[in-house]
Amino acid sequence: MSIFETIKQSLNLIDVARFYGIEVSRNGFTSCLFHNERTPSLKLYSDHFYCYGCGKSGDVIALIAERLNVSQFESAKIIMNDFHLSSDEMRVTATPQVKMSYSEWERQTIRLLNQYLNYLKFFERTYAPKDENEPVNDIWVESIHMISMVEYYLDILIFEPLEVRQEFLQQYTQQLEKIETQLDDYKRNFRLERN
Ligand SMILES: [Zn+2]
Repeated sequence: MSIFETIKQSLNLIDVARFYGIEVSRNGFTSCLFHNERTPSLKLYSDHFYCYGCGKSGDVIALIAERLNVSQFESAKIIMNDFHLSSDEMRVTATPQVKMSYSEWERQTIRLLNQYLNYLKFFERTYAPKDENEPVNDIWVESIHMISMVEYYLDILIFEPLEVRQEFLQQYTQQLEKIETQLDDYKRNFRLERN
């Protein structure tokens, strides 16, 4: 595990924030470190933060980097040290090879989600009620729900900054594997019409 992963898996962001002197209200808010404000709108969660004022989000390493005004790499080293963590991989930043395989992983995931979305839209068209008397089909309801979820995933992978995308891919591995299995199943059982 990299030290980034070690930190994220071992520590609760809120505990770390408090350790570095960030005052956290009972409902998890603090004044944003990334923009000036009077009313705290930076919400801290156990595994990430999000500012409802400026939209900034990230993980514990990014938060402490901003707090201490150091790079993310420095921030990670400081946290490792202060929380007595150790990692089998103390070299943090990805080598070019690792970066390459990450972007390949990301590209494959986007391709997977787009293919899956095509099937969902096919189900949405196929099972939509023809008139208001027809009972609602479960597959239709489910596909509408899934379409908005998959579109949300794609939005993250296309528009969010790298650190958010990396975190997303790590956190949603299981969901993405499920989608892959499901897609294989669809490919075996349905032939998509071209339109
Ligand atoms: Zn902010």
